Amino acid sequence: MVLKTDGEIELMDAANRIVQEVLSAIGDRIEPGITTRDLDAFAEATIRRAGGVPAFLNYKGFPATLCTSVNDVIVHGIPNDKPLCEGDIVGIDCGVLYQGYYGDSARSFSVGKVDPEAERLLTVTKTALMLGIEQVQKDGRLSDIGNAVQTHVEAAGFSVVREFVGHGIGTSLHEDPQVPNFGAPGRGLRLRPGLVLAIEPMVNVGSSSVKVDSDGWTARTADGSLSAHFEFSVAVTTDGPRILGVDAAA
Ligand code: MG
Ligand code: MG
Repeated sequence: MVLKTDGEIELMDAANRIVQEVLSAIGDRIEPGITTRDLDAFAEATIRRAGGVPAFLNYKGFPATLCTSVNDVIVHGIPNDKPLCEGDIVGIDCGVLYQGYYGDSARSFSVGKVDPEAERLLTVTKTALMLGIEQVQKDGRLSDIGNAVQTHVEAAGFSVVREFVGHGIGTSLHEDPQVPNFGAPGRGLRLRPGLVLAIEPMVNVGSSSVKVDSDGWTARTADGSLSAHFEFSVAVTTDGPRILGVDAAA
């Protein structure tokens, strides 16, 4: 586990500001007819113009800047030329390397008007992320994050994915510790100021089971149900959680 200095956390905030700029601009662009390849090209240009490097491009061979995960795709979808359709949901995951430090965040968006169950999935997943983040407290326990996520998701009748988890982040995209979105409370390491965690619940309408396509990346729900994904990079501070790349709530 690597603890960051205040100066390093400011650089990670800057990296995450680029990520948030990309995600917000993509949210403005998502509409029926646009392709995930269009969104990917826009994201790469935006990151490079800001002085960053796309963190996922060529990561273990991943072929794009964004992971774009439509409907039953949980995470790691590869951008393609299929237009998004009214009623789809799409998870956009973006990573940026800036001045030696990584930022990593994801949001799921609706495409046009979606049905009420899809809308509820997006709301529950985003809320689960924020409840997990509330547990990022000095001297808190790591497993309290996942327990808060799982409790909220399962109370809503949805399931949390086990195969993929959140992670520490810093000068590497993925550092220790792993941050599961499930488990009993009060366990695991004690959170210390300077620890930075990427917290990222992946939530399925149906069962939590996962299958991966023959491309080796695209992870789908085994039962074909919808899945959503939200992520923030969060620093532990003496004043509680600090979501990087985002101005503190007024
Ligand atoms: Mg991510
Ligand atoms: Mg991540």
